[in-house]
This record gives sequence, structure tokens and C-alpha cells, in this order.
Amino acid sequence: MSEVRVRIAPSPSGNLHVGTARTALFNYLFAKKNNGKFVLRIEDTDAERTSQAYIDNIFDSLKALGLNWDEGPDVGGEYGPYTQSERFDIYPKYAQMLLDNGFAYECFCTPEELEHEKEVATANKQAYVYSKKCENLTAEEKAKLIAEGRKPAIRFNISKAQKAFHPTSELSFDDLVKGELKQNTDLFGDFVIMKSNGAPTYNFAVVIDDMLMKISHIIRGEDHISNTFKQILIYEALGAEVPKFGHLGMILAPDRSKLSKRHGATAVSEFVEKGYLTDALINFVALLGWSPSDGEEIKPVDAIAQDFRIGEISSSNSIFEYDKLNWMNSHYIKMLDIETLKEKLKPFLTKYDLNELTDAQYTRMVEVTREPLVILSDITDAVPYFFGETVEIEPEVQSEVLDTEVSQDVLKAFAAQAKDWEFEEENLHEKLEVFRGEFKEKGIKPKQTMWAIRAAVTGRTRGADMTATLAILGKDKVLKRVEKAIK
Ligand code: GLU
Repeated sequence: MSEVRVRIAPSPSGNLHVGTARTALFNYLFAKKNNGKFVLRIEDTDAERTSQAYIDNIFDSLKALGLNWDEGPDVGGEYGPYTQSERFDIYPKYAQMLLDNGFAYECFCTPEELEHEKEVATANKQAYVYSKKCENLTAEEKAKLIAEGRKPAIRFNISKAQKAFHPTSELSFDDLVKGELKQNTDLFGDFVIMKSNGAPTYNFAVVIDDMLMKISHIIRGEDHISNTFKQILIYEALGAEVPKFGHLGMILAPDRSKLSKRHGATAVSEFVEKGYLTDALINFVALLGWSPSDGEEIKPVDAIAQDFRIGEISSSNSIFEYDKLNWMNSHYIKMLDIETLKEKLKPFLTKYDLNELTDAQYTRMVEVTREPLVILSDITDAVPYFFGETVEIEPEVQSEVLDTEVSQDVLKAFAAQAKDWEFEEENLHEKLEVFRGEFKEKGIKPKQTMWAIRAAVTGRTRGADMTATLAILGKDKVLKRVEKAIK
């Protein structure tokens, strides 16, 4: 087999969508599995919708997901440039080839004329197909139209290609994911491949680029299936080898509608901003259509690449279960080593002054607060009491815990004793044990004793390990907060 070359070809009209990330991943996995090359091409022919910020977002998101490309706009390669807008001088030559071999023709129809054709079709309850009015214009007729100031677009003569290459059958191909796909191409109509302003249309540019970049397998969303039929005929009309195609099912929201902003984040960068780990996200995305042979769903991309077989991708749609992603993300957070986690949490702690803590205190704080984190941003609301001199007391905590006589007794005793304690975890552990014991003898449950202390020091009834919290805060802050809670 000749070299496997696959590509991801995003249009930079938005931030990198998780759906595109999945397409990129499956291409990347296919390349890895087959010692092939993974190419990134930016399809920015729609200048109005393109922006540099989106291009940067696509680069950054793919990199963050670990989907590094072998060839692309930034790293170059043998078949560049890899940005479509820099390839505009390439396309006319191939359009000319199709004009010369009769599989394309110039079309001088104005937008108004085309609109009129459409209206007539609608009025007759027919699907609109271009009339081929310009198919057989003579040289004189064309010269006259040009003299009128008209500039021609170029149309692909699809019915001619269909008849030439598939005279007795519908067009069909063997999809790597979906098996045989067939299409009657009659209703496609002769579509424009070069606009009158000289810009190529998507279906043409993509074929020329994939052909010149020697792309062997095209793996993309099933929304492109009808394009694939058109593209196959263009390859054939150019006398080029037709690549293999594989179409992935769509990704749907839990309510089975198209995944959109109203369901939650959709762009990779949005997930990252919310506190999802890219390792978790890419693992989750792999499971949208692919399942591991051993049933073990938590797998880094390298392990997935070993196990990946394109023929085993599900041909149906996948549901984007945010709950499952959350489960997976919390699992990945648990697997992070402490130093990495400390770094990854920092962007979510900017409302606090981390300089209040030594590195050792910060480490300990993360150790005792990491367990319940589902997304990294959960840390923000989990740690306010580790910062500042005083602490905000939740209203119910004040009325239900701190205002009780028992709590007041506990806090007074605590303040009296703790001023002589050394606030080191092991020591505190022993001291608190004894302290609880004394109250237990008076009939106060250990839990209640600790509640009073926790409420005074953290303003909450739940939170991180109390001994560790007291040690991190240190004696001064703890006693100040306890004194404040004593009436
Ligand atoms: N630019 C196209 C898109 O973003 C690429 C489609 C393809 O893979 O051919 O949908």
C-alpha cells in the first residue's frame, strides 16, 4: 500500500468544535496505526467568516489535545502551502484542464437568471437543477457575453462525468465506516467549481488540495457524504486516483438534537476554560463512535492508537453525554500528580492571593481538596477559607451551628487551649483527639465538637480535612477566626 496520508481540513469560521476534534482524532489515530502522515490544512476560502483568532484557536486546541500534525501551515511540508487562501494560483490550472477535456464549461448566467430558474422549479414543485443553459455556448456567443461585461463562472458537468465513468449504474463507493453508499447524481446539477471572481468553491478546492497533497484516506463527518459523490466524479474527470472515504456519524446532544451552545460547551477551548482536562476530553471524544476491545474506557491516546481499527467505528450517531465526560474528567483529575495539578488549578484560583501560602501549604491544600473535584474550576468555591484573615460565615452556619450554646462552649475551650498548641498536623491530630474526648465526657458528640470548630474557622459545615485545614491556616488565623465567632 502506498503511504497513508490523512488530513483534517477545518474552516476557521469558529473555534475548534469537539466534533472537529473527534474527526481530527480519528484521522490522527488512523495515521498512527498505519505509520502514515497526519496533515493539517486550513480551508479559509470564505474570507468573510475567517479570522486569525479562529486559526490560532484551531492550532492551540489541536496541540492541547495532543493531535500534532506532521505537515501544516506552521510546520510546512512537501505539499504546501497548507492554507487554502495561499493556493489560489493553483486552482485555475485544474479548472482549465476540465474545460479542455469537456467536463466543465463556462457559465455566464447572472444571479437574477439563476434565481428565476429556481422560482420556476419551485412553482412547478420540482427540485431545482441548473438548466445547463450555458453548456453548449459557441465562441461567438461567449464573446458577446464577455463584451457585455459578464464574467463567467465555471461549472462541473456532472451528468457528463457520471455517464462517462459510470454509464450503467448509480455512483457508488465502499465507505470505510458505512460500507457501500450509492447515489443517483442526476439531481446534483452542474455545480460551480470556480466562481466568476476566480475563487474556487469548496468541492473543487478540496479535491485539488487532497489530490496534490496525496491524501490517501478522507475521514470526515457524514454531513459530507453528498459532497463525496461530487468529489469522486471530479477526481475521475481529472484522471486522478480516487482516495478512500470514511464518514463518521454525527455527534448529537443528549436530547438527540444537533449539539449546540444551548446544551453547554461545544468548542474545545470552552471546555478547557471550564476546567476540563484535554486528556479527559480527547479520551471521551474517542468513545464517540469507537469502543475499546477490552472494554477499558479510560485510555490515553497512545493506547487507543494501538487498539484503533477504522472498520470498527460505529456508523451511527453518538450522543455527547456531558455526565460521562464529567465522570471521566474527575477520574483524570484523580490521576494527575500533585505538581501538575497544582499548576493546572492556578488559573482557577486567581481571585485568591496564592502568596498567602507557602508552596508546602499550597501543596497540602490541593491534597486535601482534590478528591471531590469534577472539573478544575470546582476548586474556586472549595477553598475560600484558606485565604484572608477572616472568613465569611454562611447564614445557616451562624444560626444553626455557631449560635448554639454547645458551640460557644467548644469554641471558648478551644481558644483557651489551642493558644499553647503547636500547629503542626500530627501534633494537632493528637491534641484534637484529646479535646474531643473531653467534650465527649460531657455528652457532646465528637462530630458536634468538630462542627463548631469547622464552622468558626471555615464558615461552612463541610470541607477539607479539619486537621490539615487548621495546620495550613496556622495558629494566628485560626485563633482570630475562633475569637470572632465567640460572642
Ligand atoms: N472545510 C471543511 C469543513 O470544515 C472540510 C471538509 C472536509 O473534510 O473535506 O467542513
